[in-house]
Amino acid sequence: MSSSRQQENRNIGMYEILPQFSPWIHSRSKIYSDFFNPNICHICKRDPKSSRAHFEDFNTCRSCNMILYCSSNHELEHKANHEEICIILGKLSHSHPVFWQTHNFRREDWVKSRKDLLRIVKVELQRYMKPYEVPMIMFAKSCFICHEQRNLQTCTECYCVNYCSNHAEVLIYHHITNCAKLKSCLGTDKYIQSTSLSYFRFTQANSVTIHNVVNMQQFIETFMNYKSDHLKKFYSDYLSGPLTLYHGIMNYHLHVKDIQNEHYVIHIIVANNLDAQYILAWEIMLHMFSGELKHLEVILIGSEMQTIRVNVNLCSICTLCQKKFEVQSYRLHLRDYANMILSCNSPNVIIAFEADFSDWDLGAEIISKLKSQSCPFVVTAGSKSKFEKNRQELNKILRTTLDLTPIENKFSSLRAYRNLEDDDVFYRNKFLVIFKGLKNLFNSHNEPE
Ligand SMILES: [Zn+2]
Ligand SMILES: [Zn+2]
Ligand SMILES: [Zn+2]
Ligand SMILES: [Zn+2]
Ligand SMILES: [Zn+2]
Repeated sequence: MSSSRQQENRNIGMYEILPQFSPWIHSRSKIYSDFFNPNICHICKRDPKSSRAHFEDFNTCRSCNMILYCSSNHELEHKANHEEICIILGKLSHSHPVFWQTHNFRREDWVKSRKDLLRIVKVELQRYMKPYEVPMIMFAKSCFICHEQRNLQTCTECYCVNYCSNHAEVLIYHHITNCAKLKSCLGTDKYIQSTSLSYFRFTQANSVTIHNVVNMQQFIETFMNYKSDHLKKFYSDYLSGPLTLYHGIMNYHLHVKDIQNEHYVIHIIVANNLDAQYILAWEIMLHMFSGELKHLEVILIGSEMQTIRVNVNLCSICTLCQKKFEVQSYRLHLRDYANMILSCNSPNVIIAFEADFSDWDLGAEIISKLKSQSCPFVVTAGSKSKFEKNRQELNKILRTTLDLTPIENKFSSLRAYRNLEDDDVFYRNKFLVIFKGLKNLFNSHNEPE
């Protein structure tokens, strides 16, 4: 998109939308495949066991040692796409060898070292990271016990866990419960990668039909006729954002009045790739509040976002009713968001999906800006432990002891994702906290003496 058109407000069709804003286009350009696993071929997603005849042809990239190919053909096919980050990683392995000397690291230290490496690579690259490049660093191979990165073996069931010779026996005891979950997670990733996805608008899910739907499973059974479990999981993941908010509005009486005002503005802050990729799913809000909501505005704010402003082409029913769905996204850090967007454009709700407050730069200045908002703030987390970490972090920032109990979200995703923290899986938006007014929350913030 040329820069002159970036700021222009225009109608777009789904094939015109940037790859970053649609999962449908990804399947057409496999080289941007957003899923990564260091133990299977990055191009064809075959694992060494299932192609035993060619086992010895499997090779990790010789210069970065972080990506696997089943053959020199597939290595060559990916060369142009991989070269840039590969050179950077190669250089860093000489200038910053500490990132490869992780023997006897505790898990927290391992996670921290991955985050630090990611930060440096981002600076060096000076461009958006491709979706697979982030997990390439975060899920780099290391022994699941001691985090040694050399001479590893791989669990040939799930292909998600590696171990050194000292910890081969421990694998049997510690990994057995998670192995099946991780295996099914990889199965879904592979399936989604190899299939061409259809673009559904869920026009059947309107204010009448949605009324009796009590959870995600039931939603999927009611409005989709897919047999494949993998596809059901995919669409649950796709829809979890808007359905979570719908659930919040209906069950916690968030702001029915705002909806009745016909124009509703959602700010998704610290947005990630998935929030962007699933942006078209939000049209379903116009269907579920079909009688009331006329103009939906969803604004994504994140340091990885591209800056765009577009009107999305809607389904025939929405078009007939002259509805409007406007998407904006801004490449901004939280601090700039508070200064630039929040101060002049008040949202009806602020949402942070899968928030990690420890990565946020929640200074006093930002808190005072947030405090001036009277809208609700919705925060989700994929696991109880992630939620608990957020609670502790928030208490630290606010210098208080908030007693927060998360709600178990009935519209969380059904698709499992690998969790870096514990070699287990998590489900997006599993836990949810709704602060009814930011004012109240941040009033408990005690200014430092
Ligand atoms: Zn291959
Ligand atoms: Zn490489
Ligand atoms: Zn080990
Ligand atoms: Zn396993
Ligand atoms: Zn529609």
